[in-house]
Amino acid sequence: SQQIHLISRPTGLPTADNFKSVEITLPAPGQGEVLVKNTWMSVDPYMRPRMIDRESYIPPFQLDEVLEGGAIGEVIESNNSNFPVGTKVSHLSGWRTSFISDGTDLTVLPDIEVPEQLFLGTLGMPGLTAWAGLTKVIELKESDTIFVSAASGAVGSIVCQIAKLKGCKVIASVGSDEKAEFVKALGVDAVINYKKVDNLTEALEKAAPEGIDVYFENVGGEHLEAALNVMNDYGRIPVCGMISSYNADKPTPGPSNLFFINSKKLTVQGFIVIDYFDCFPEFVAQMANWMAEGKIKSEETIYHGLDNAVDAFIGLFEGKNKGKMLVKL
Ligand code: NDP
Repeated sequence: SQQIHLISRPTGLPTADNFKSVEITLPAPGQGEVLVKNTWMSVDPYMRPRMIDRESYIPPFQLDEVLEGGAIGEVIESNNSNFPVGTKVSHLSGWRTSFISDGTDLTVLPDIEVPEQLFLGTLGMPGLTAWAGLTKVIELKESDTIFVSAASGAVGSIVCQIAKLKGCKVIASVGSDEKAEFVKALGVDAVINYKKVDNLTEALEKAAPEGIDVYFENVGGEHLEAALNVMNDYGRIPVCGMISSYNADKPTPGPSNLFFINSKKLTVQGFIVIDYFDCFPEFVAQMANWMAEGKIKSEETIYHGLDNAVDAFIGLFEGKNKGKMLVKL
């Protein structure tokens, strides 16, 4: 089996030197065990903060050990009747081509006729994040104007589409003209290419003269500052992530206008998708329906082979993906 190990902790944007490909020989599966061959793996922004040696909601990656992350695989040898040969499973043992499992860490894929990699995207963790953020963390209302940052990504592209389904006005921020076209095709009402505007606050005011009621926060920094400037009273900010700070070597300065949280009586609510895993069946049923009705579209950017997984991961911070960033193994 081939595995990718973290061999040094990145400073700034990770580089290929922080990682190493390692070949190991797996034993034959023992009693109750199965051999899983991975078919798809996910790279996700949260993996970058996990490379820092500090306490968080999830333990840091250890040096000289195989990385972890969401992946889909197929059971190819089995001594466990719960997982016969051919069973498709999802699990957290990505960053490797195959592995032995006793089954406790495996989830059989729901019986829905869709390409299996969707369970790493729209029907998986990022989709659940978007759905939970809008329906459980805040209660999105039809009358809301919502601003979404990193709007063309795995989470953002689903947030935009759910918000349109709910009847909201959606303003999207993206980092290229191509991504702007993509989110327009998803039905958003206005798009800002943040790399092309001098003043994000002015661009946001122009797109939402009525002000914004919800800011779905994926980016932090200038995006948060602009959103705070344009929020209406009693606005809500589900804080999903702040990718603009993940590669920072030093603490980054906060927005200069945090006082608006007070004066505009805002609700700022951080959340982690793990707390919503119990909602997975409700989420999958709803999302699979929307997809079957053609109401939610899924975009993917695919890198091929475990040797390109590090490039795919680094690419997240360079805006290389539209929709879900995936590695086909
Ligand atoms: P994406 O598919 O959105 O990929 C990352 C995108 O972020 C890039 O394509 C890029 O798009 C944008 N980006 C990267 N660096 C910057 C920057 N410095 N400033 C602005 N935009 C940047 O990833 P995900 O959908 O998986 O994740 C989106 C956010 O959601 C992240 O913050 C992530 O940590 C968070 N998240 C949180 C979860 C939770 O449980 N709370 C679960 C899953 C994700 P562009 O070209 O537009 O710049």
